[in-house]
Amino acid sequence: MALPEVTVPTVLAWEDDPGEPPSDRMPIHRPVPDLDTPPLPTAIAGRAPAPDGGMPGSAAFRYWTAADALSRGSAVWGPLMPPGTTWHRTVGPKLTVRLDEGEDLNAYYDRRSLSFFHTTVAGVEVYSGESAEVVAHELGHAVLDALRPQLWNVASAEAEALHESFGDISALLAALRLESVRSAVLAETRGFVEASSRASRIAEQLGWALRQRNANGVDANALREASNRHFYRDPVHLPPSAPATELSSEPHSFSRVFTGAFLKIIAGIFQQQPVRDSEALARAAGISAVLLADAVLAAPVVTGYYAQLAAHMIAADQELHGGEHGQALRSAFVRHGIISLAGATSLTGEALREHGRGIAESGGPGPAAGEELSDLTIPGDVYGLVDGVAVTMPTEQTRFAVAGSDPAGGALEPAGPRQAAMAYIEDLFRRSRIGVNEELRAETSVVADDRRTRTHEIVRTDRGDGLQLLRRRFAARPARATVP
Ligand SMILES: [Zn+2]
Repeated sequence: MALPEVTVPTVLAWEDDPGEPPSDRMPIHRPVPDLDTPPLPTAIAGRAPAPDGGMPGSAAFRYWTAADALSRGSAVWGPLMPPGTTWHRTVGPKLTVRLDEGEDLNAYYDRRSLSFFHTTVAGVEVYSGESAEVVAHELGHAVLDALRPQLWNVASAEAEALHESFGDISALLAALRLESVRSAVLAETRGFVEASSRASRIAEQLGWALRQRNANGVDANALREASNRHFYRDPVHLPPSAPATELSSEPHSFSRVFTGAFLKIIAGIFQQQPVRDSEALARAAGISAVLLADAVLAAPVVTGYYAQLAAHMIAADQELHGGEHGQALRSAFVRHGIISLAGATSLTGEALREHGRGIAESGGPGPAAGEELSDLTIPGDVYGLVDGVAVTMPTEQTRFAVAGSDPAGGALEPAGPRQAAMAYIEDLFRRSRIGVNEELRAETSVVADDRRTRTHEIVRTDRGDGLQLLRRRFAARPARATVP
């Protein structure tokens, strides 16, 4: 008996991004995505259009491109979540995705849903939710929040930058799920995967749109270029904003240091594969993702956070692969100054094994049970506030004695948690990121009145004994100074 022919229904979607206008990219056919997949189920608000119902620019096309990106993002991270992981409790069982929340050049995650916007730039309609990379980036914020909720409110430029980096890594890994993208990357880079490629250029269309308004507000060929040479500095000593060619403590800018190292890790592991083909690139991306997810869970939220993450990725590789990729990891982190040379070479197999035993004895990775980040109350008058303000400091227990490179040689001494927290809140004010209600402002107040640029708010504590700094969302929109 002949089996009936089965036709798998498909949708049209962008592989990664609509591309910089004028773009000659063509959408590809993808299986109809299933969003309701544990442990990271998502749901797009509104009715699902018929599959294959629309071409680029239409609401139906936007829906299926976003759905495909969400499903690939969930496929990257879902298997790496520890058992029992759910979205942050205020998100609910499924993460709702709103694809067109009105006119803006923005996208954000606010612990309730993902929101995307549209606007017309130089005659081109730009929908942030039509870029698979922007969608996967925002999903990355929600995933990292599920893994490490301590990063949400901590007053640390480096922790916030890691959130942005994790979003871009999410976009990179979701793109590399596709064979067509992997082949394109291998062709464009001639197998030198750390070079600039379609996958390393994150969100070309949104980057182009922002460059029309401010030529040096974002990287020259994308919103952010993962193939970069940005070298670590303690963000406490960096300016609050800078042209895209330089590094600043602004989290999207500073995120590029870690994302740059991550791309080099994928490239280094790829180089170790006996046959360097598309399958090998998929394997290298998969191994790198596992090491990052492990490290995010285990690394303490402290100042010098990148260095701790780096050490924990090297430790995870020692445990899972016997240190097979240690050279690729050390080299990538040293090249970006994330760990000093001495720090990288101090992480010997024996030191890492000893460390692994230490973690096991203390009851597993992550903060010890009951451990809370501590608050610091700083005087409010400096910030034009009527009362002192409590901020959450990066004060978990450091496990590895490693730190970033001092460009002059040796290792940096990371700023203390108090200095990092104070620099962080000051930067937020300088970048107009904080909303403050009228009655909490002193007469010399300097605050953001443009709601769209805000990521934080200063509110009275529940106890009414002062003020506190609370995060409201992670937003893609850069500081007001760069976007009119
Ligand atoms: Zn982001």
